[in-house]
Amino acid sequence: MSFYPPKRTLMGPGPSDVNPRISLALARPTIGHLDPEFIRLMDEIKALLQYAFKTKNLLTLPISAPGSAGMEACFVNLIEAGDTVIVCQNGVFGGRMKENVERAGGTAVMVNDAWGQAIDLDKLDAAIKANPDAKAIAFVHAETSTGVRSDAQAICKLAQDNDMLSIMDTVTGLAGIEVDVDGWGADAVYSGTQKCLSCVPGISPVTFSERAQSVITNRQLPVQSWFLDMNLIMGYWGEGRQRAYHHTAPVNALYALHEALTILREEGLEQSWARHLRNHEALKAGLTGLGLSLLVDEACRLPQLNAVGVPKGVDEAAVRQRLLQQSNLEIGAGLGELAGKVWRIGLMGYASNETNVRLCIHALESALL
Ligand code: PLP
Repeated sequence: MSFYPPKRTLMGPGPSDVNPRISLALARPTIGHLDPEFIRLMDEIKALLQYAFKTKNLLTLPISAPGSAGMEACFVNLIEAGDTVIVCQNGVFGGRMKENVERAGGTAVMVNDAWGQAIDLDKLDAAIKANPDAKAIAFVHAETSTGVRSDAQAICKLAQDNDMLSIMDTVTGLAGIEVDVDGWGADAVYSGTQKCLSCVPGISPVTFSERAQSVITNRQLPVQSWFLDMNLIMGYWGEGRQRAYHHTAPVNALYALHEALTILREEGLEQSWARHLRNHEALKAGLTGLGLSLLVDEACRLPQLNAVGVPKGVDEAAVRQRLLQQSNLEIGAGLGELAGKVWRIGLMGYASNETNVRLCIHALESALL
């Protein structure tokens, strides 16, 4: 029997609601991944990703796998055995970066901040001074587990000033808040399609600066991951080369990504960021009206991911279940240290709209009665 999923409204930490235009693009006829028309599409996707990331980096492309693969691509390509990486952790995903460094044979020097706080630049600066030979600084720009935005521009500048590479996770940031890869001088950046791009999950846009690209091409040893070796992937996605088979690209998912990026371009980056902020403000007003509070300080709060404190005595899982059953509405649970303490309400991409804000506030109001 065919599978027909229920019609949900996705206001969790991702995936977010897929724009119907993107679903239609996904259903278009599959063509070969070396078809000249597909190659043309690939070129357009690269240019659109350069727009979304605000970069001229030639090595900008979608990895054919989810955000975790984008993360892994950055680490396995840039880090070799014996390298030291300063890893900032203020939530779940910084912890995964540490694992990536160690699995690549490197040493991770951790700069830990409380969950719900932004990365502390003074602590980072002290770690840099204590580890002047570190090769890179890795950090999460938009921490999905807490709803915190860190000062990516300042962190990238610290990396540049100290001749270190910057590795930035903006899986949840891209299209929801400002990302300015060239303006900030970020070296290796990865994102995901299932958050503020409102595309289907399973693709990870990445971009590497010239500096990062030259580190990758001048490695001592080959990258231990064949699939994620950018030196090989460049043969398929790279500039000025005959496009050669590396793996079978997820053809239809790339139609979807192209449509998602086209929609972003039509709206405009700044307008997309402004819409995310506007809908966050409306959500905040509604939550305040229900007596609920947000975990994160306004100064470093992500508009697209709202961590909301669970009131004392409330069974948070039961509330989420009621929202799903009564309103077909998905919100997220807390992760790690915040499990049981917060709900995570996403207002990402296509799902960041006034109707969803109203739906969520009304559904929460009746679920909390
Ligand atoms: N980094 C961050 C900040 C994320 O929020 C996520 C997913 O939620 C990931 C990495 C991993 O992405 P994926 O689940 O697509 O592998």
